[in-house]
Amino acid sequence: MAEKYKALIGGEWVEAAGGETTTVINPANGQVIATVPKCGIEEVNAAVSAAAAAFPEWAAKPVGERSKLLLKLSQLIMANQESIAKLETMEHGSPIRKTMNFDVPLCAEQLEYFAGVARGVTGETLPVGPWCMSMTVRQPLGVIGLITPWNFPALMLIWKLGAALVMGNTCIVKPPSIAPLTALKLGELAMEAGIPKGVVNVITGPGGTVGEALVEHPGVAKIGFTGDTATGKRIMKVASDTVKQLGLELGGKNAFIVLEDADVDSAVEGAVFGAYFNSGQVCAAASRFYVHESLYDEFAEKFVAASKTLKMGDPTDFATVLGPVAYKAHRDKIDTFVEKAKKSSAKLLLGGERPADPALKDGYFVSPTIFGDCTNDMDLMRHEIFGPVVGLCRFKTPDEAIALANDTPYGLSASIWTKDTRAGLVMASQINAGTVWINEHLIIFCETPWGGCKESGWGKDLSTMVLDEYTMTKHIYVDLTGQPAKPWYAILK
Ligand code: NDP
Repeated sequence: MAEKYKALIGGEWVEAAGGETTTVINPANGQVIATVPKCGIEEVNAAVSAAAAAFPEWAAKPVGERSKLLLKLSQLIMANQESIAKLETMEHGSPIRKTMNFDVPLCAEQLEYFAGVARGVTGETLPVGPWCMSMTVRQPLGVIGLITPWNFPALMLIWKLGAALVMGNTCIVKPPSIAPLTALKLGELAMEAGIPKGVVNVITGPGGTVGEALVEHPGVAKIGFTGDTATGKRIMKVASDTVKQLGLELGGKNAFIVLEDADVDSAVEGAVFGAYFNSGQVCAAASRFYVHESLYDEFAEKFVAASKTLKMGDPTDFATVLGPVAYKAHRDKIDTFVEKAKKSSAKLLLGGERPADPALKDGYFVSPTIFGDCTNDMDLMRHEIFGPVVGLCRFKTPDEAIALANDTPYGLSASIWTKDTRAGLVMASQINAGTVWINEHLIIFCETPWGGCKESGWGKDLSTMVLDEYTMTKHIYVDLTGQPAKPWYAILK
């Protein structure tokens, strides 16, 4: 029996005005697990009013009080670790070993980090003459719309929500339609933590109506968005009418460069993690592999062998490392990329077929798939596939590797594998991406900024830089002369 969820507006659990709902499907077996309200403009307006009403009191709280509430929320998340992890595994298909050991603890840790660093945020005094005091102060922006993706339903929300809240903003969350349940659970825990009514609102419904209405709404000061580049472009257009501030964390097509002197075994370990973590549904996933020609055959052979060892299956089983992808249309989209690549000159080295195990037939599973002998003009190497599907390409010189890595509309991340740290650092400075790892791929900390360039978007999540994203810096000038006439008034006399 599908559980019935409600949206959270102004501290009340509500249905959509018209009573419409949408279903949430478990991608591991295609079963309906829940319904959520299909909200519309009416709920968006109500949520903006509730968040605006809650803003003055929340913004006026000392940052230490807001921090304590975030810490309380962090504790409640850990107290509910198992139930949140199970919910995310059910709605998204991510293996329970990952949701339990990675997503939920990181949500809690991220809130602890925000609660700490926010208390060190300061303005500046500026050196402009002895006749005045000139200073900057940091202020919250107001009501923030957070439009979040399905690939890490809880963590991507907490990255933005924690920063926005601790800096004194109130929020309206628009979670992804295919995985909205953890966001609703986090909304419930925010209230339990004592965060006042209206400070966190969660409204479910289609991105094209609810999401876009938030972007359009003049009462919303900023949109924090993670998702597809095409959606980001649409949001930019809609936001222009109100000149709304945006933070856009969009797609990636991330290069994994194995230099001539690399340790192949380490690179293969990193490749498996970079390519298959979360079944490749990661904006920073390693998907374009550029391997020096002298190592290519060894790397390809070992990467294929290592990829065969991953256990795909029921995501509620702690032994499973690869679950299904998040929804049927997404699986079908991945299949289309694979079928097209099979017809190209790329050589299929692994996968390319639906998993044979009959137990997986009703779920949206995609086998690890590796194509060799790829060229940069192939769709496989140009588009964000967002699944466990990668392409390998040979190169001869480091300059060629840099040119290939930069030949993409995206600029989110890349990795370089080498024993020569100096060479790695020099190459890192020439790669157009927001993050470059050397001898690692996909590692992210609370303390390290995250965000890309080019069509991967702009703005930063994580680190103290995200606190700037959710504040306005105001300059205040105080005259200290006490004199009615200033020398510069002479210009009008
Ligand atoms: P979307 O970009 O469509 O979804 C992300 C969020 O945006 C969801 O909450 C969605 O709502 C909302 N949204 C959709 N359309 C609009 C709109 N016009 N205005 C405002 N908000 C909107 O991603 P998809 O879920 O469709 O995934 C498609 C592809 O995007 C994936 O295959 C992958 O390639 C990429 N992607 C990349 C991510 C990343 O981290 N870089 C994350 C997620 C996806 P709703 O769910 O209701 O449509």
